[in-house]
Amino acid sequence: MLLVQNGFSCRYEMDVFMRLFFDAQDDVEVYTNIAYSSNKIDAYCQIIYKGRVYFGEYTCDYEKSNDKEDSRRYSVACTRSFIDAAEKIHKVSLPWGAMCGVRPAKAVTSLVLKGYSYDDAKKYLAKVYGVSEEKCRLAAKVSENESKILASHKPDTVSIYIGIPFCPTRCMYCSFVSTDIRVSGKYIDDFTACLLKEIDYTSGMIKRLGLKIDNIYIGGGTPTTLNENQLFMMLEKINKSFDLSGIREFTLEAGRPDTITFEKLKTARSFNVNRISINPQTTNDKTLLKIGRKHTYSMFKDAFFMARKAGFDVINTDLIAGLPGESAADFKKSIDDILMILPENITVHSMCIKRAANLRHTENKLTEADVMNEMLSYAQNTLSGFGYTPYYMYRQKNISGNLENVGYSRGDTMSFYNVNIMEEIQTIIALGGGGTTKIVTDNGIDRIFNFKDPLEYIRNFNEIINRKKKTEDILAKGGAV
Ligand code: SF4
Repeated sequence: MLLVQNGFSCRYEMDVFMRLFFDAQDDVEVYTNIAYSSNKIDAYCQIIYKGRVYFGEYTCDYEKSNDKEDSRRYSVACTRSFIDAAEKIHKVSLPWGAMCGVRPAKAVTSLVLKGYSYDDAKKYLAKVYGVSEEKCRLAAKVSENESKILASHKPDTVSIYIGIPFCPTRCMYCSFVSTDIRVSGKYIDDFTACLLKEIDYTSGMIKRLGLKIDNIYIGGGTPTTLNENQLFMMLEKINKSFDLSGIREFTLEAGRPDTITFEKLKTARSFNVNRISINPQTTNDKTLLKIGRKHTYSMFKDAFFMARKAGFDVINTDLIAGLPGESAADFKKSIDDILMILPENITVHSMCIKRAANLRHTENKLTEADVMNEMLSYAQNTLSGFGYTPYYMYRQKNISGNLENVGYSRGDTMSFYNVNIMEEIQTIIALGGGGTTKIVTDNGIDRIFNFKDPLEYIRNFNEIINRKKKTEDILAKGGAV
């Protein structure tokens, strides 16, 4: 694919949209041109594809403001003129219009900070980016909910993330840091021993810095891959080492129902874990088998009710729209099934569509993106009918379709930690395998990575401690915000 831009260059944004319409190996040439005069932006695009030329244009009123805003508006004008031309070649479903970022709610928040009402912000998204009415509503609601959560942020606090990079088997679509215990199970004992030392070191560091722990999140992987004894040792260590008196959320991402036992749940509750995630992904057993998860929907329900019995009153369940072989009807059934048990939080993920060809219309056939939109739209509307509200959302970078993952909550159960991950307003200190420490100070954000592979983590444990020392230095100089 060839791209030539005159007047203004926005290669990153153009790449995102070119990949939605064309495959990397397609023989296509794209030329854009932009002009600004008399408070007007005029953008033109010419696409040469398979020997034919297609033209597109986009015009809007715009009064120059500042460099950042000017760049944003020029880049939207270029991409919209490209979309205008490209749609003459293929039809592609673009519910987010020409919006490019991974956090659409942020656009609404920045408009609200400039004095827009939420209604006016929605109108802006529709007019400037061509966002559908449904997605405008979603972005505005997420922004509104996020703002409420962010307002509760207390200074001089940190969150702790503990990564347990083991799973009983590997799911077909997994993009996380995790190893199958059939291969790496022999390292769990040594991994746990190192983790206990890392917890010790980190607790000293937090005390020296005079910080308070706000949230603890144990994720992975699947933390409940640890056996009863290993889980007990980790939770006991956390409770003994950290001052948990000011803690708001203590989450255990149990994830896979096939790793959950009543004893593990009771242990977690006895150590003050107050949120848990148990994830079916789908309620269709055939799909579960196909994607490599060794559990059924019935096992999920057993684990869910076991968690209730153990005393968990905030349970999250993840579902994925667009799993291989699933129709819109299958996904809708998963939503309906989950609503029979009413978890407090439901997170709806979008399966990635990696090939542009899968997004385009062929004769009379809906594209995968249309089906995905139908699924996500069903989730949004049905969940809202049951009292759920969307409170965090992100889109996946570099993935065709530009679709979103949304966290919904019911009642007063929105998770600060989940919003913080998106908005990066509080330092998160990562322990264990695969996590990234994000240090948020007055000087900006620094990132320090932990080793992903359990064996690397064990063998290089001294380096893990060195990286904690570096974290302490940065926090001591910058001051946690
Ligand atoms: S449970 Fe999650 S982390 Fe584990 S293999 Fe499946 S997708 Fe990956």
